[in-house]
Amino acid sequence: SYVDSLTGLLNKKSIIKYAEDALQSENREHIALSIIDIDDFKSVNDNFGHLFGDKVIKAVANVIKNAVGTSGVAGRIGGDEFFIVFEKLNNELEYRNVLRCIKTNVAIQYQDQMERKLSCSIGLARYGIGPFSTTYHDLFKIADRSLYLAKVKGKNRYIIYKPELHGDFNVQNDDDI
Ligand code: GH3
Ligand code: MG
Repeated sequence: SYVDSLTGLLNKKSIIKYAEDALQSENREHIALSIIDIDDFKSVNDNFGHLFGDKVIKAVANVIKNAVGTSGVAGRIGGDEFFIVFEKLNNELEYRNVLRCIKTNVAIQYQDQMERKLSCSIGLARYGIGPFSTTYHDLFKIADRSLYLAKVKGKNRYIIYKPELHGDFNVQNDDDI
């Protein structure tokens, strides 16, 4: 079983394996890892029920899949958490375009049924950007902390990690993930 049954995306185990392999490949300099988490998803479940919550997860998965296209591979790594392994993009603007596309299209899902628009927060870490940014472990940590920063700054945004902007996430001697 390689696939998440609800969304059809890769499941957690296979997307992680995919990322680890990609970071061992000759193409590793083009890799970026991104984590996406739906904002306030608990309240979607609470207000509309678990089945509707499942529909929202599926819709967000489709948005992500379509936005990523052939530039990478997407998976589901948690209840409302998704993961992208980008393999073909070259610069900040190209990442921005994909992440903005996700943000925009998530906001229009089920917009008639809900009083508040759906949104998500996103963190992204690029290979070789900043210190300790070449292994799966390090890049996942940077992406996760960028996502955390996006949540703290008020959600509904994406953060592409840049050391000069966000500081050193001090990934070198921190093995808590
Ligand atoms: P935040 O903005 O900080 O991300 O808050 P949140 O409400 O999204 O909080 P959190 O990510 O902790 O909540 C995720 C919720 O997703 C909790 C759990 O009940 C629900 N959930 C997990 N898996 C599924 C699923 O497969 N289907 C549905 N409908 N809900 C799920
Ligand atoms: Mg969430």
